[in-house]
Amino acid sequence: MKIAHLASEVYPFSKTGGLADVLSSLPKAQAAHGDEVCVFSPMYPGIAERFRLEDTGLATWVNTNRGVYDYRLFIKKTHGVKWCFLANMFQFDRAGLYSADGRDFDDNYLRFGCFCKAALDFMEAMQFDCEVVHAHDWQTAFVFPYLNMQNRGYAKIFTIHNLAFQGVFDSSAINELKIDQQLNHLECLEYWGKANFMKGAIELCDAFTTVSPGYAEEILADDGHLALGLQDFIRARAFKFRGILNGIDYADWNPATDACLDDNYALNDMDGRFQCKLDLCRDFNLDPAKPLFTVISRFTEQKGLLLLAEALEELKYRDISLVLLGDGERRICDALLAKAMQMPGMRVAIGYDNSLSRKLYAAADFFLMPSLFEPCGLSQMIAMHYGAVPVVRYTGGLKNTVRDVCYGGCGIVFADYTRAELINAVDRAIGLYHSPHMLEIRERAMYQDFAWHKSCLEYECLYKQFV
Ligand code: ADP
Repeated sequence: MKIAHLASEVYPFSKTGGLADVLSSLPKAQAAHGDEVCVFSPMYPGIAERFRLEDTGLATWVNTNRGVYDYRLFIKKTHGVKWCFLANMFQFDRAGLYSADGRDFDDNYLRFGCFCKAALDFMEAMQFDCEVVHAHDWQTAFVFPYLNMQNRGYAKIFTIHNLAFQGVFDSSAINELKIDQQLNHLECLEYWGKANFMKGAIELCDAFTTVSPGYAEEILADDGHLALGLQDFIRARAFKFRGILNGIDYADWNPATDACLDDNYALNDMDGRFQCKLDLCRDFNLDPAKPLFTVISRFTEQKGLLLLAEALEELKYRDISLVLLGDGERRICDALLAKAMQMPGMRVAIGYDNSLSRKLYAAADFFLMPSLFEPCGLSQMIAMHYGAVPVVRYTGGLKNTVRDVCYGGCGIVFADYTRAELINAVDRAIGLYHSPHMLEIRERAMYQDFAWHKSCLEYECLYKQFV
Protein backbone atom coordinates (compact mmCIF):
# COMPACT_ATOMS: atom_id res chain seq x y z
CA MET A 1 0.00 0.00 0.00
CA LYS A 2 1.09 3.59 -0.54
CA ILE A 3 0.79 5.51 2.68
CA ALA A 4 1.42 9.18 3.47
CA HIS A 5 1.76 10.01 7.17
CA LEU A 6 1.50 13.63 8.26
CA ALA A 7 2.90 14.55 11.66
CA SER A 8 4.28 17.55 13.49
CA GLU A 9 7.26 15.63 14.93
CA VAL A 10 9.30 12.65 13.83
CA TYR A 11 12.21 11.11 15.72
CA PRO A 12 15.20 11.49 15.29
CA PHE A 13 14.60 14.70 13.34
CA SER A 14 12.37 16.36 15.93
CA LYS A 15 10.80 15.24 19.18
CA THR A 16 8.95 16.53 22.21
CA GLY A 17 7.23 13.27 23.18
CA GLY A 18 5.91 9.87 22.18
CA LEU A 19 4.28 11.15 18.97
CA ALA A 20 7.75 11.51 17.45
CA ASP A 21 8.68 7.95 18.46
CA VAL A 22 5.54 6.53 16.87
CA LEU A 23 6.06 8.49 13.66
CA SER A 24 9.49 6.98 13.44
CA SER A 25 8.72 3.39 14.30
CA LEU A 26 5.32 2.83 12.64
CA PRO A 27 6.43 3.97 9.15
CA LYS A 28 9.59 1.83 9.42
CA ALA A 29 7.51 -1.19 10.39
CA GLN A 30 5.13 -0.55 7.50
CA ALA A 31 8.01 -0.20 5.03
CA ALA A 32 9.54 -3.44 6.33
CA HIS A 33 6.17 -5.02 5.69
CA GLY A 34 6.35 -3.97 2.02
CA ASP A 35 4.38 -0.73 2.03
CA GLU A 36 5.57 2.40 0.25
CA VAL A 37 5.66 5.06 2.95
CA CYS A 38 6.25 8.82 2.95
CA VAL A 39 6.24 10.84 6.17
CA PHE A 40 5.60 14.56 5.87
CA SER A 41 6.79 16.81 8.67
CA PRO A 42 7.86 20.43 9.10
CA MET A 43 11.51 21.36 8.72
CA TYR A 44 12.52 22.73 12.12
CA PRO A 45 15.87 24.46 12.73
CA GLY A 46 18.92 22.23 12.61
CA ILE A 47 17.34 19.32 10.74
CA ALA A 48 18.98 20.22 7.42
CA GLU A 49 22.43 20.51 9.03
CA ARG A 50 22.22 17.41 11.23
CA PHE A 51 20.78 15.03 8.63
CA ARG A 52 22.06 15.49 5.14
CA LEU A 53 18.79 16.10 3.32
CA GLU A 54 18.31 16.04 -0.40
CA ASP A 55 16.87 19.21 -1.91
CA THR A 56 14.20 17.98 -4.34
CA GLY A 57 14.00 21.39 -6.01
CA LEU A 58 10.22 21.20 -5.62
CA ALA A 59 8.40 24.26 -4.34
CA THR A 60 4.81 25.27 -3.71
CA TRP A 61 2.86 28.25 -2.43
CA VAL A 62 0.01 28.22 0.02
CA ASN A 63 -2.40 31.03 -0.48
CA THR A 64 -4.15 32.18 2.70
CA ASN A 65 -6.08 35.29 3.63
CA ARG A 66 -3.13 36.26 5.84
CA GLY A 67 -0.57 36.02 3.06
CA VAL A 68 1.19 33.63 0.75
CA TYR A 69 3.62 31.10 2.24
CA ASP A 70 6.17 29.36 0.09
CA TYR A 71 7.39 25.86 0.85
CA ARG A 72 10.32 23.82 -0.39
CA LEU A 73 10.62 20.07 -0.14
CA PHE A 74 13.66 18.24 1.24
CA ILE A 75 13.85 14.51 1.66
CA LYS A 76 15.87 11.82 3.36
CA LYS A 77 15.52 8.13 2.54
CA THR A 78 16.28 5.64 5.32
CA HIS A 79 14.79 2.34 6.47
CA GLY A 80 12.80 2.14 3.24
CA VAL A 81 10.87 5.31 4.21
CA LYS A 82 10.89 8.70 2.49
CA TRP A 83 11.04 11.35 5.23
CA CYS A 84 9.77 14.55 3.61
CA PHE A 85 10.49 17.91 5.23
CA LEU A 86 8.55 21.00 4.32
CA ALA A 87 10.56 24.16 4.74
CA ASN A 88 9.22 27.61 5.34
CA MET A 89 11.68 29.75 7.28
CA PHE A 90 9.12 32.19 8.62
CA GLN A 91 6.75 29.55 9.98
CA PHE A 92 9.06 26.80 11.22
CA ASP A 93 12.52 28.22 11.80
CA ARG A 94 11.76 28.96 15.48
CA ALA A 95 13.24 27.81 18.77
CA GLY A 96 10.22 25.70 19.84
CA LEU A 97 8.02 23.34 17.86
CA TYR A 98 4.73 24.72 19.18
CA SER A 99 5.61 27.38 21.72
CA ALA A 100 8.31 29.58 23.17
CA ASP A 101 8.73 30.57 26.84
CA GLY A 102 5.70 28.46 27.78
CA ARG A 103 3.38 30.30 25.39
CA ASP A 104 1.89 28.73 22.25
CA PHE A 105 2.68 30.56 19.03
CA ASP A 106 -0.32 32.71 18.04
CA ASP A 107 -0.17 31.53 14.47
CA ASN A 108 -0.09 27.77 15.11
CA TYR A 109 -3.26 27.26 13.05
CA LEU A 110 -1.63 29.09 10.16
CA ARG A 111 1.67 27.20 10.46
CA PHE A 112 0.14 23.75 10.59
CA GLY A 113 -2.74 24.57 8.24
CA CYS A 114 -0.30 25.73 5.56
CA PHE A 115 1.93 22.74 6.23
CA CYS A 116 -0.98 20.33 5.58
CA LYS A 117 -2.00 22.10 2.39
CA ALA A 118 1.61 22.13 1.15
CA ALA A 119 1.99 18.40 1.95
CA LEU A 120 -0.99 17.64 -0.32
CA ASP A 121 0.59 19.74 -3.08
CA PHE A 122 3.90 17.90 -2.73
CA MET A 123 2.24 14.48 -2.88
CA GLU A 124 1.13 15.44 -6.38
CA ALA A 125 4.37 17.14 -7.34
CA MET A 126 6.38 14.07 -6.26
CA GLN A 127 3.97 11.89 -8.21
CA PHE A 128 3.43 9.85 -5.08
CA ASP A 129 0.48 7.74 -5.99
CA CYS A 130 -0.90 7.87 -2.48
CA GLU A 131 -3.67 5.50 -1.35
CA VAL A 132 -3.87 6.32 2.36
CA VAL A 133 -3.48 9.68 4.07
CA HIS A 134 -2.88 9.05 7.76
CA ALA A 135 -2.76 12.22 9.86
CA HIS A 136 -1.76 12.39 13.52
CA ASP A 137 -3.14 14.78 16.15
CA TRP A 138 -4.60 18.25 15.75
CA GLN A 139 -1.55 19.72 14.01
CA THR A 140 -2.31 17.68 10.91
CA ALA A 141 -6.11 17.61 11.28
CA PHE A 142 -6.26 20.50 8.77
CA VAL A 143 -5.55 18.06 5.96
CA PHE A 144 -9.12 16.72 6.08
CA PRO A 145 -10.95 19.99 5.30
CA TYR A 146 -8.49 20.53 2.44
CA LEU A 147 -9.01 16.97 1.18
CA ASN A 148 -12.74 17.50 1.43
CA MET A 149 -12.40 20.46 -0.92
CA GLN A 150 -10.13 18.55 -3.32
CA ASN A 151 -11.96 15.23 -3.34
CA ARG A 152 -8.90 13.13 -4.14
CA GLY A 153 -10.28 9.75 -3.09
CA TYR A 154 -7.58 8.70 -0.66
CA ALA A 155 -8.43 6.59 2.39
CA LYS A 156 -8.52 9.18 5.18
CA ILE A 157 -7.32 8.00 8.59
CA PHE A 158 -6.87 10.16 11.67
CA THR A 159 -5.12 9.11 14.87
CA ILE A 160 -5.64 10.85 18.20
CA HIS A 161 -2.48 10.62 20.28
CA ASN A 162 -3.88 12.88 22.99
CA LEU A 163 -7.46 14.11 23.10
CA ALA A 164 -6.51 16.84 25.56
CA PHE A 165 -5.08 18.91 22.69
CA GLN A 166 -7.75 19.50 20.06
CA GLY A 167 -6.52 22.43 17.99
CA VAL A 168 -9.15 24.98 18.99
CA PHE A 169 -8.79 28.43 17.44
CA ASP A 170 -10.85 31.49 16.73
CA SER A 171 -13.32 30.66 13.96
CA SER A 172 -11.65 33.32 11.78
CA ALA A 173 -8.94 30.67 11.23
CA ILE A 174 -11.32 28.94 8.81
CA ASN A 175 -11.51 31.98 6.60
CA GLU A 176 -7.82 32.77 6.95
CA LEU A 177 -6.88 29.28 5.82
CA LYS A 178 -9.37 29.49 2.94
CA ILE A 179 -11.19 26.43 4.23
CA ASP A 180 -14.73 25.94 3.04
CA GLN A 181 -16.99 28.00 5.37
CA GLN A 182 -19.70 25.39 4.89
CA LEU A 183 -17.71 23.09 7.18
CA ASN A 184 -18.24 25.52 10.05
CA HIS A 185 -21.32 23.79 11.47
CA LEU A 186 -22.14 21.82 14.61
CA GLU A 187 -21.39 18.43 13.07
CA CYS A 188 -17.95 19.50 11.87
CA LEU A 189 -15.60 22.36 12.86
CA GLU A 190 -17.94 24.49 14.97
CA TYR A 191 -17.17 24.32 18.70
CA TRP A 192 -18.70 26.85 21.10
CA GLY A 193 -18.26 29.65 18.59
CA LYS A 194 -14.70 28.57 17.80
CA ALA A 195 -13.13 26.22 15.28
CA ASN A 196 -12.02 22.81 16.59
CA PHE A 197 -9.84 21.15 13.95
CA MET A 198 -9.66 17.77 15.70
CA LYS A 199 -13.46 17.71 15.70
CA GLY A 200 -13.47 18.49 11.98
CA ALA A 201 -11.01 15.66 11.33
CA ILE A 202 -13.16 13.18 13.28
CA GLU A 203 -16.15 14.07 11.11
CA LEU A 204 -14.36 14.19 7.76
CA CYS A 205 -12.09 11.12 8.03
CA ASP A 206 -13.07 7.60 6.99
CA ALA A 207 -11.90 6.18 10.32
CA PHE A 208 -10.23 7.51 13.41
CA THR A 209 -8.19 5.67 15.96
CA THR A 210 -6.48 6.28 19.22
CA VAL A 211 -3.30 4.77 20.53
CA SER A 212 -4.56 2.05 22.87
CA PRO A 213 -7.75 0.05 23.37
CA GLY A 214 -7.81 1.15 27.01
CA TYR A 215 -7.89 4.86 26.13
CA ALA A 216 -10.49 4.20 23.41
CA GLU A 217 -12.78 2.53 25.97
CA GLU A 218 -12.31 5.39 28.41
CA ILE A 219 -13.09 7.97 25.73
CA LEU A 220 -16.31 6.15 24.80
CA ALA A 221 -17.37 5.98 28.45
CA ASP A 222 -16.23 9.52 29.21
CA ASP A 223 -18.27 12.04 31.16
CA GLY A 224 -16.35 14.99 29.77
CA HIS A 225 -13.04 15.14 31.63
CA LEU A 226 -11.09 13.31 28.89
CA ALA A 227 -12.84 14.47 25.75
CA LEU A 228 -13.40 18.08 26.88
CA GLY A 229 -16.90 18.25 25.45
CA LEU A 230 -16.36 15.99 22.43
CA GLN A 231 -17.61 12.83 24.18
CA ASP A 232 -21.09 12.75 22.60
CA PHE A 233 -19.69 13.75 19.24
CA ILE A 234 -17.21 10.85 19.40
CA ARG A 235 -19.77 8.37 20.71
CA ALA A 236 -22.01 9.22 17.75
CA ARG A 237 -19.10 8.21 15.49
CA ALA A 238 -18.03 5.14 17.49
CA PHE A 239 -18.73 2.95 14.43
CA LYS A 240 -15.53 4.29 12.83
CA PHE A 241 -13.41 4.54 15.98
CA ARG A 242 -11.03 2.02 17.57
CA GLY A 243 -7.91 1.79 19.70
CA ILE A 244 -4.73 0.36 18.21
CA LEU A 245 -1.86 -0.06 20.64
CA ASN A 246 1.41 1.75 19.89
CA GLY A 247 4.62 -0.22 19.70
CA ILE A 248 8.26 0.68 20.12
CA ASP A 249 11.23 0.33 17.81
CA TYR A 250 13.54 -2.25 19.34
CA ALA A 251 16.32 -1.36 16.91
CA ASP A 252 16.47 2.07 18.51
CA TRP A 253 15.57 1.16 22.09
CA ASN A 254 18.00 -1.65 22.73
CA PRO A 255 20.21 -1.76 25.85
CA ALA A 256 22.56 -4.17 24.07
CA THR A 257 23.49 -1.58 21.43
CA ASP A 258 22.45 1.79 22.90
CA ALA A 259 25.38 4.10 22.17
CA CYS A 260 24.41 6.46 25.01
CA LEU A 261 25.22 3.78 27.58
CA ASP A 262 28.79 3.31 28.77
CA ASP A 263 27.97 -0.31 29.49
CA ASN A 264 25.61 -2.33 27.34
CA TYR A 265 23.71 -5.34 28.56
CA ALA A 266 21.13 -7.93 27.59
CA LEU A 267 19.03 -10.56 29.28
CA ASN A 268 21.82 -13.13 29.13
CA ASP A 269 24.49 -10.67 30.24
CA MET A 270 23.28 -8.30 32.93
CA ASP A 271 26.62 -7.11 34.37
CA GLY A 272 26.43 -3.92 32.30
CA ARG A 273 23.13 -3.01 33.89
CA PHE A 274 24.60 -3.10 37.37
CA GLN A 275 27.41 -0.86 36.11
CA CYS A 276 24.87 1.57 34.58
CA LYS A 277 23.28 2.02 38.01
CA LEU A 278 26.68 2.53 39.65
CA ASP A 279 27.66 5.13 37.04
CA LEU A 280 24.40 7.04 37.36
CA CYS A 281 24.48 7.01 41.16
CA ARG A 282 28.05 8.28 41.05
CA ASP A 283 27.07 11.09 38.65
CA PHE A 284 24.12 12.11 40.83
CA ASN A 285 25.83 11.41 44.15
CA LEU A 286 23.33 8.76 45.21
CA ASP A 287 23.74 5.54 47.17
CA PRO A 288 23.63 2.61 44.69
CA ALA A 289 22.46 0.18 47.39
CA LYS A 290 19.07 1.90 47.61
CA PRO A 291 16.22 1.21 45.19
CA LEU A 292 16.38 3.78 42.41
CA PHE A 293 13.09 5.18 41.13
CA THR A 294 12.98 7.37 38.06
CA VAL A 295 10.55 9.54 36.12
CA ILE A 296 11.16 10.63 32.51
CA SER A 297 8.25 12.72 31.43
CA ARG A 298 6.62 15.94 30.47
CA PHE A 299 6.02 17.68 33.79
CA THR A 300 2.26 18.10 33.49
CA GLU A 301 -0.76 17.23 35.56
CA GLN A 302 -1.66 14.49 33.04
CA LYS A 303 1.49 12.60 33.98
CA GLY A 304 0.59 12.61 37.68
CA LEU A 305 3.49 14.79 38.71
CA LEU A 306 1.38 16.91 41.07
CA LEU A 307 0.19 13.75 42.79
CA LEU A 308 3.78 12.61 43.09
CA ALA A 309 4.80 15.98 44.55
CA GLU A 310 2.08 15.54 47.20
CA ALA A 311 3.07 11.94 47.91
CA LEU A 312 6.68 13.03 48.39
CA GLU A 313 5.61 14.68 51.65
CA GLU A 314 5.61 11.13 53.00
CA LEU A 315 7.93 9.36 50.55
CA LYS A 316 10.80 11.64 51.53
CA TYR A 317 11.12 9.50 54.66
CA ARG A 318 11.62 6.28 52.65
CA ASP A 319 15.08 4.88 52.07
CA ILE A 320 15.01 5.34 48.28
CA SER A 321 16.65 7.36 45.52
CA LEU A 322 14.53 9.25 43.02
CA VAL A 323 15.70 10.96 39.83
CA LEU A 324 13.27 12.94 37.68
CA LEU A 325 14.00 14.19 34.17
CA GLY A 326 11.56 16.42 32.38
CA ASP A 327 10.20 19.81 31.65
CA GLY A 328 6.79 21.41 31.46
CA GLU A 329 4.53 23.48 33.65
CA ARG A 330 6.43 25.98 35.76
CA ARG A 331 4.39 25.32 38.93
CA ILE A 332 5.16 21.59 38.69
CA CYS A 333 8.88 22.12 38.08
CA ASP A 334 8.95 24.45 41.09
CA ALA A 335 7.02 22.01 43.29
CA LEU A 336 9.40 19.18 42.42
CA LEU A 337 12.51 21.31 42.88
CA ALA A 338 11.20 22.38 46.28
CA LYS A 339 10.67 18.73 47.29
CA ALA A 340 14.20 17.87 46.17
CA MET A 341 15.51 20.39 48.70
CA GLN A 342 13.82 18.37 51.46
CA MET A 343 14.69 14.85 50.28
CA PRO A 344 18.39 13.92 50.32
CA GLY A 345 17.99 11.10 47.77
CA MET A 346 16.00 13.10 45.23
CA ARG A 347 17.39 14.79 42.10
CA VAL A 348 15.52 16.78 39.47
CA ALA A 349 16.96 17.44 36.01
CA ILE A 350 14.90 20.04 34.18
CA GLY A 351 15.07 19.84 30.41
CA TYR A 352 14.93 17.47 27.50
CA ASP A 353 17.93 15.13 27.32
CA ASN A 354 17.80 12.00 25.15
CA SER A 355 21.14 10.67 26.34
CA LEU A 356 20.35 11.10 30.04
CA SER A 357 16.92 9.54 29.53
CA ARG A 358 18.55 6.38 28.19
CA LYS A 359 21.03 6.26 31.06
CA LEU A 360 18.12 6.58 33.48
CA TYR A 361 16.11 3.78 31.87
CA ALA A 362 19.21 1.58 32.12
CA ALA A 363 19.99 2.45 35.73
CA ALA A 364 16.56 2.57 37.34
CA ASP A 365 15.10 -0.23 39.39
CA PHE A 366 11.61 1.26 39.07
CA PHE A 367 9.98 3.56 36.54
CA LEU A 368 7.21 5.72 37.98
CA MET A 369 4.21 6.71 35.86
CA PRO A 370 1.33 7.76 38.12
CA SER A 371 -0.64 9.26 35.20
CA LEU A 372 -4.01 10.90 35.64
CA PHE A 373 -4.76 9.65 32.12
CA GLU A 374 -2.47 8.05 29.57
CA PRO A 375 -3.41 7.64 25.88
CA CYS A 376 -0.82 4.91 25.47
CA GLY A 377 2.53 5.75 27.00
CA LEU A 378 5.75 4.52 25.46
CA SER A 379 8.03 5.23 28.41
CA GLN A 380 6.77 2.27 30.42
CA MET A 381 7.43 -0.04 27.44
CA ILE A 382 10.95 1.35 27.03
CA ALA A 383 11.54 1.09 30.78
CA MET A 384 10.53 -2.58 30.79
CA HIS A 385 12.83 -3.38 27.90
CA TYR A 386 15.70 -1.71 29.77
CA GLY A 387 14.88 -3.71 32.90
CA ALA A 388 13.18 -1.04 35.04
CA VAL A 389 10.02 -2.34 36.70
CA PRO A 390 7.09 0.02 35.96
CA VAL A 391 5.00 1.45 38.80
CA VAL A 392 1.90 2.80 37.06
CA ARG A 393 -1.68 3.84 37.53
CA TYR A 394 -4.34 1.66 35.91
CA THR A 395 -5.43 3.99 33.11
CA GLY A 396 -5.52 4.14 29.28
CA GLY A 397 -2.63 2.38 27.57
CA LEU A 398 -1.03 1.53 30.91
CA LYS A 399 -3.91 -0.93 31.38
CA ASN A 400 -2.94 -2.66 28.14
CA THR A 401 0.80 -2.80 28.74
CA VAL A 402 1.50 -3.32 32.45
CA ARG A 403 0.15 -6.21 34.49
CA ASP A 404 0.64 -6.32 38.24
CA VAL A 405 3.09 -8.85 39.70
CA CYS A 406 0.20 -10.27 41.73
CA TYR A 407 -1.40 -11.41 38.47
CA GLY A 408 1.73 -12.88 36.93
CA GLY A 409 2.86 -9.59 35.43
CA CYS A 410 6.01 -7.56 35.81
CA GLY A 411 4.81 -4.23 37.17
CA ILE A 412 3.17 -2.60 40.13
CA VAL A 413 -0.24 -1.19 39.32
CA PHE A 414 -2.50 0.99 41.44
CA ALA A 415 -6.05 2.00 40.66
CA ASP A 416 -7.13 5.25 42.27
CA TYR A 417 -5.50 8.58 41.60
CA THR A 418 -4.79 9.21 45.26
CA ARG A 419 -1.73 9.97 47.29
CA ALA A 420 -2.37 6.94 49.53
CA GLU A 421 -2.50 4.51 46.58
CA LEU A 422 0.66 5.94 45.06
CA ILE A 423 2.53 5.69 48.37
CA ASN A 424 1.29 2.12 48.78
CA ALA A 425 2.54 1.26 45.26
CA VAL A 426 5.98 2.69 46.04
CA ASP A 427 6.04 0.73 49.29
CA ARG A 428 5.21 -2.44 47.38
CA ALA A 429 8.09 -1.67 45.01
CA ILE A 430 10.48 -1.20 47.93
CA GLY A 431 9.32 -4.56 49.28
CA LEU A 432 9.92 -6.19 45.91
CA TYR A 433 13.41 -4.66 45.66
CA HIS A 434 14.43 -6.28 48.93
CA SER A 435 12.82 -9.62 48.05
CA PRO A 436 14.43 -12.53 46.18
CA HIS A 437 11.91 -12.00 43.32
CA MET A 438 13.36 -8.72 42.05
CA LEU A 439 15.68 -10.31 39.49
CA GLU A 440 12.99 -12.56 38.11
CA ILE A 441 10.50 -9.69 37.75
CA ARG A 442 13.12 -7.51 36.07
CA GLU A 443 13.83 -10.30 33.58
CA ARG A 444 10.13 -10.81 32.99
CA ALA A 445 9.84 -7.11 32.17
CA MET A 446 12.68 -7.37 29.66
CA TYR A 447 10.94 -10.30 27.96
CA GLN A 448 7.80 -8.29 27.12
CA ASP A 449 7.22 -7.76 23.43
CA PHE A 450 5.88 -4.39 22.33
CA ALA A 451 7.15 -4.55 18.75
CA TRP A 452 4.94 -3.15 16.02
CA HIS A 453 4.05 -6.31 14.08
CA LYS A 454 0.53 -6.84 15.51
CA SER A 455 -0.53 -3.18 15.50
CA CYS A 456 0.95 -2.73 12.04
CA LEU A 457 -1.39 -5.43 10.75
CA GLU A 458 -4.31 -3.80 12.51
CA TYR A 459 -3.61 -0.55 10.67
CA GLU A 460 -3.32 -2.43 7.41
CA CYS A 461 -6.74 -4.08 7.92
CA LEU A 462 -8.19 -0.68 8.68
CA TYR A 463 -6.65 0.95 5.59
CA LYS A 464 -7.90 -1.88 3.37
CA GLN A 465 -11.50 -1.09 4.22
CA PHE A 466 -11.18 2.24 2.43
CA VAL A 467 -8.66 1.67 -0.36
P1 ADP B 1 4.02 11.54 25.90
O1 ADP B 1 2.64 11.64 26.43
O2 ADP B 1 4.88 12.67 26.36
O3 ADP B 1 4.09 11.34 24.43
P2 ADP B 1 5.12 8.84 26.08
O4 ADP B 1 5.41 7.98 27.25
O5 ADP B 1 4.20 8.30 25.05
O6 ADP B 1 4.64 10.24 26.63
O7 ADP B 1 6.51 9.17 25.32
C1 ADP B 1 7.46 9.95 25.89
C2 ADP B 1 8.73 9.85 25.05
O8 ADP B 1 9.49 11.05 25.26
C3 ADP B 1 9.64 8.71 25.48
O9 ADP B 1 10.46 8.33 24.38
C4 ADP B 1 10.49 9.38 26.58
O10 ADP B 1 11.72 8.71 26.77
C5 ADP B 1 10.69 10.75 25.96
N1 ADP B 1 10.90 11.83 26.94
C6 ADP B 1 9.96 12.42 27.73
N2 ADP B 1 10.52 13.42 28.44
C7 ADP B 1 11.83 13.45 28.12
C8 ADP B 1 12.93 14.26 28.52
N3 ADP B 1 12.78 15.25 29.42
N4 ADP B 1 14.14 14.02 27.98
C9 ADP B 1 14.29 13.02 27.06
N5 ADP B 1 13.29 12.23 26.63
C10 ADP B 1 12.07 12.44 27.15
